[in-house]
Amino acid sequence: MKKKKILIKKIFILIIIIILIMFIFKLIFKKQKPYLLKTENEAIIDEIYIYGNHLNLNGTIDIDKIDKDFQELKLIFYAKEPIEIPLTYKETEENIYFEISDKLNNGFLLDSLSTGIYNLYIEAINGKKIEYYKLNNTTKYDLTEYYSIRKNNKFNYYEFENKNDTISLNITPSNTKEIYDVVIDPGHGGVDKGACDNNYCETDFTYLISSKIKEKLEQHGLKVKLTRGDLSSSERLPNYGDNGRVNIANASRAKYLLAIHLNSNAYNDNGLEIYTAYNVDYTFASNLAKSIVKTANTNYSTNNAFKKLDGVYTRTFQNIDLNEAYETAIANNYKPYDVSNKTTYYFVIRETGGYMSGAYKDARDGTDYNYNYNSNVGIESYLAEIAYITSKKDLTNLNNNIDKYVDGIVDALLNEIGNEK
Ligand SMILES: [Zn+2]
Repeated sequence: MKKKKILIKKIFILIIIIILIMFIFKLIFKKQKPYLLKTENEAIIDEIYIYGNHLNLNGTIDIDKIDKDFQELKLIFYAKEPIEIPLTYKETEENIYFEISDKLNNGFLLDSLSTGIYNLYIEAINGKKIEYYKLNNTTKYDLTEYYSIRKNNKFNYYEFENKNDTISLNITPSNTKEIYDVVIDPGHGGVDKGACDNNYCETDFTYLISSKIKEKLEQHGLKVKLTRGDLSSSERLPNYGDNGRVNIANASRAKYLLAIHLNSNAYNDNGLEIYTAYNVDYTFASNLAKSIVKTANTNYSTNNAFKKLDGVYTRTFQNIDLNEAYETAIANNYKPYDVSNKTTYYFVIRETGGYMSGAYKDARDGTDYNYNYNSNVGIESYLAEIAYITSKKDLTNLNNNIDKYVDGIVDALLNEIGNEK
């Protein structure tokens, strides 16, 4: 009996010890911060932003803190399987300036990352010798949030934070509702019919085309927001404020926006114009223009003002616009907005792109406020003037081929986003 008792006691103690060991192991495993690089060197981050689905950042490394013979500078997302991104750089007397891209929409494609925790460093590579730099985020953006584009009905939530002695990124699956992939903004609406000529107004087409684009993109698994419904002739959609076009678009957290309009002028121009924000890479705008021209059998616009490429236009504030902005501020007794000849002119492109596209509508004039004017996460936004309402040729083609215009737009967007057609 006594022996049996001792045996039970021993087994009991053994079980306790095993449980304790398991507990300690779990603690150690949990406390381990995986994939950290030990370094005292730091790079100063002056700017970090997300435009569309691309991350961009820039900053400097002190010239005394870097091996001057380095051949490559890279941003590294350090994890089990590290991701390296080449940086472009230039040397001054005091430092090395680096950036991912000098174009808003040409940074690193965030959607290419899989879920997990990444710690960000910069590496200076000289042959087999590598020096690492932790990132000192000196911007006012301590937290940068992003939601990826849906693929097979799944998308992820990204959180950039100043953590682990550098900038850290945590990517987790998301099922947050009201997160969209694309916003389509039907121009004008209701009381505001837009430009009218030849017995047509912009609103005879803008909602119809926008709703068709939405339907087709949704068939390909994307979640699409329209900024407005088919307004009755007495309704009006404000541009700003709580229920305004700009805040509806920004709240969607979409990655792409396309505003649909028709053009007009007194110079007999015709054809298609795609407007972009200032300082973007024109590849997508050009592909969009090409796709519409080809599919809808229309032509690039004959208008040369603000033209960058065939069908691609960038309009920024001209002196006349700057004067007007200044005089409006003085007349209404508020401090003039900080605008320049690099500020994007079309409000829907500008105010949905965050500070990067020149958004400036804070509440200083009392009415025209955009909650996101100061955001470092913006929508990659475009405005399509799909035809001239002042051109009979354009109107005939549009009336005969409206679904082809839609197809041209949808094809280009799906190609850009990488979703299966
Ligand atoms: Zn319009």
